[in-house]
Amino acid sequence: MEIKLQEYSIHIDSLAAPLLEYFESHSTSKVFVLVDENTKEHCLPSLNFEGMPDFQIIEIKAGEQFKNIDSCQLIWQRLLESAADRKALLINLGGGVIGDMGGFCAATFKRGIPFIQIPTTLLSQVDASVGGKLGIDFQEVKNSIGLFQNPEMVLLQPDFLKTLPSAELRSGFAEVIKHALIQDKDQWDEIEKIENLSAIEWKNWIARSVIIKKNIVVVDPFEKGERKKLNFGHTVGHAIESFFLNTESPLLHGEAIAWGMLAEAKLSQVFANLSDKHFQGIFDLIERLYQPKPITETIMPELVKSMKNDKKNSFGKINFTMLKEPGTSFINQDIAEQSIIKAILEVNQQLSS
Ligand code: MG
Repeated sequence: MEIKLQEYSIHIDSLAAPLLEYFESHSTSKVFVLVDENTKEHCLPSLNFEGMPDFQIIEIKAGEQFKNIDSCQLIWQRLLESAADRKALLINLGGGVIGDMGGFCAATFKRGIPFIQIPTTLLSQVDASVGGKLGIDFQEVKNSIGLFQNPEMVLLQPDFLKTLPSAELRSGFAEVIKHALIQDKDQWDEIEKIENLSAIEWKNWIARSVIIKKNIVVVDPFEKGERKKLNFGHTVGHAIESFFLNTESPLLHGEAIAWGMLAEAKLSQVFANLSDKHFQGIFDLIERLYQPKPITETIMPELVKSMKNDKKNSFGKINFTMLKEPGTSFINQDIAEQSIIKAILEVNQQLSS
């Protein structure tokens, strides 16, 4: 299956054929493959097919804490040492960290070399695969250094999800839920029936979710308007994620976003007339799949500070995407600190009862 965007294509469930076609139609001087210890073991063997050119492996450590300038230096250094020129190709084989950071390194090395994304987690397949956002974390602020740049192509292998820990699947599924909530009522109706994620046939779910995101991104590639819908759950969610990143119990991205969606659905009841029934439906699903825990009241000031620092916001205002109902959303709702804290505390209360 192929999903075409303006500048590149996303191929679902085929790896060798699109790669071979790429190498036939592009003159490539050297091929580098960026991996971490997990994708080196579980995913790299898939690149061992007949006709694949020789490549050099660049390995970094797995984990969000390594999505930083030190890892970039290592990648750039390897490219330099191997005399990579502008016709070199970087294949990023891994989850969001590998894709965002590898893409960032490729897009900046010698003012830009081509790169191919092969996302290996559900999160990166349904989210990072579309939209060309690249970057790294800097001084505890997620993705604060980066740029927009499209890859040559994106290859999505549902088979890679078989080796993924269930917590990672659950994390990625938060973006599937988000896509449905902002734009696709029918998919939301399907999602509401899910009891657990173990029996899911991923190929079609991935395709459908990617298409929702694609339809939003093509009309607004640089996030001036419509694309902000994709921030649903992420204003509160990113603040929660950043806070817990530095504790002994960090949350996965999707776990934090699931919490963020609860808080922002609660705000949608007040600011967008989301019905009690619809809020309850969202609450029930997220509680069932994620078992979120209440958030300590004492960290509220820190969460608010972090939301104000978020690159999505300007002039000290905190900006939200609101849900009118599942499948229908609107952007640019400024909400005061006090209302945000109140919503989080109300969700807390409902989680404890
Ligand atoms: Mg996200």
